[in-house]
Amino acid sequence: MGNCNNIKIRDDIPKDMPTLALSQHFGTCFTCGARCCRYITKEIETPRSLADFEKFRRWVAQPGVKVFICQDGIWHTEFISTCKHLRSDMGCGIYTIRPQICEDYKVESCEYTSDLTPRQEFFDEPSLRKYLIEILGTRWRVGDRLEEKLLPAPEVTGEAIIEIDVPDCKADFDTMRWYTSHPGCSVAIAGDAYYFCWHSPEIWKDRDPFAPGNEPKGANVEPRPFVKPDRVLKTDFEVEIFMAEQLASMYQIQIAALQGKIGALKRRAAEIEGAAVEIKTHELQAVVKIG
Ligand code: SF4
Ligand code: SF4
Repeated sequence: MGNCNNIKIRDDIPKDMPTLALSQHFGTCFTCGARCCRYITKEIETPRSLADFEKFRRWVAQPGVKVFICQDGIWHTEFISTCKHLRSDMGCGIYTIRPQICEDYKVESCEYTSDLTPRQEFFDEPSLRKYLIEILGTRWRVGDRLEEKLLPAPEVTGEAIIEIDVPDCKADFDTMRWYTSHPGCSVAIAGDAYYFCWHSPEIWKDRDPFAPGNEPKGANVEPRPFVKPDRVLKTDFEVEIFMAEQLASMYQIQIAALQGKIGALKRRAAEIEGAAVEIKTHELQAVVKIG
């Protein structure tokens, strides 16, 4: 995610300088091995029902996916996938145009230089199941009987899908660009809803997870919120095109709204003797003159 400020100095680095010397000289990101560029993490709702936990159980049953609780009590999920822009020398291949989320992640407070150890981590389904039965069984006063209510062990499908907010600004699209820079991560759009999708590259290999008939099947698989999405953005390049389309269309809507306001002003001015609406420089600036 990060590839912090230190990378800014990479332009000054002599091309023939060996990697080890780089590490000794610059430390941090180089010695760290760019760990923050090797996953996608997403904040998730605090689970409040058995249905929420069933969803989380399905996620952590997938190799390469974990769920964790930060020190502040906020729940997150994490998908292991190394950003395709990470270079072999641990530099960012798109440093000057890296996603906002990467720019915002600072070395001074990152996971390598600060103690960001989660309060609790679940790397697999049994550990989450144990937490569920011990903690919630007690809290909900159902004890071991909770186990009877759980669905069978989830299938390993290599798939996890999370609904995300509808993007409405450049930063939101930029986060989608960050997702899709990581192999196996895509964004699916169905109607008005947006989904972050993760597909294990090992399990799905060259198969298209969105092709009809390719939905995972089994006893306890993630129910897909869509049969066939209207659009799937699989790469950051596709997101960039989509972002350009969407921002252009949003901008047109804003222009139309402003033009509507100017039209209303003109109509109002026409009703007042001696009043006129003067349009300055372009149609988006209007000055009302009376008398
Ligand atoms: S985890 Fe910290 S030190 Fe490592 S690459 Fe990211 S920002 Fe740099
Ligand atoms: S774009 Fe990729 S390589 Fe660059 S900082 Fe972000 S996660 Fe790291």
